[in-house]
Amino acid sequence: MRRKLVAGNWKMHGLRAQLGEIEAIAAATAQHAAVDVALCVPFTLIGPAVALATRLPIGAQDVHEDDQGAHTGCVSAPMLVEAGAALTIVGHSERRADQHETDAQVKAKAEAGRRAGLDVILCIGETLDERDAGRAEEIVTGQVAASLPDGAGADWLALAYEPVWAIGTGRTPTEADVAAMHGAIRAKLRALVGDEADAIRILYGGSVNAGNAAALLGCADVDGALVGGASLTAEKFVPIVAAAAAL
Ligand code: PEP
Repeated sequence: MRRKLVAGNWKMHGLRAQLGEIEAIAAATAQHAAVDVALCVPFTLIGPAVALATRLPIGAQDVHEDDQGAHTGCVSAPMLVEAGAALTIVGHSERRADQHETDAQVKAKAEAGRRAGLDVILCIGETLDERDAGRAEEIVTGQVAASLPDGAGADWLALAYEPVWAIGTGRTPTEADVAAMHGAIRAKLRALVGDEADAIRILYGGSVNAGNAAALLGCADVDGALVGGASLTAEKFVPIVAAAAAL
């Protein structure tokens, strides 16, 4: 039985003025002990958020693949650990698009996170053009094969299926499409890591909100959600966690 995981991704949102929101999220989600909850905030908020919300795992949204070096502006996994982070997202489609991150780089980032002791949420997902061309499954399972870190294990790794066209758009795939894709991802995982595939969580991400969370989280092989916009306030995020807890 896989425990549900609901993780928030604040993207490039959040100043110290929003720390109260993190405190409220930490307090309210602690009431839902059956669900794992985490919040991935901008680098600058990791330390303050960790100090404030001691029982809510705080994460980053990216990590460099090297532990140190001449990489101006980048942050390494040991640095994240020192700041108090418990996890990091890697391979988000916004980084794959904006920073041209490749599957090989995403794999290396996940392995760097693991080396330092971080949990990792690895994102995969197809664009609308790829879906319209009937290539969604081929693209997504190809990303799984090419970006899955060595030593992939359920105790530190989760995947997040995030169709690019569903992120921040208010559009979501049908429940049948979500179940079919998660089933295909699980099958690919099984081919790659054997029985461990049954324990690795596969989250859905893309326009999850209080209204659609129960339906999306109830789909076969969906083990939680990665939530962007609706994770920015306790008012919007906590009902999603509650929906996961009620399943
Ligand atoms: C995301 O960025 O990971 C995401 C799922 O965003 P949103 O929930 O806003 O679509």
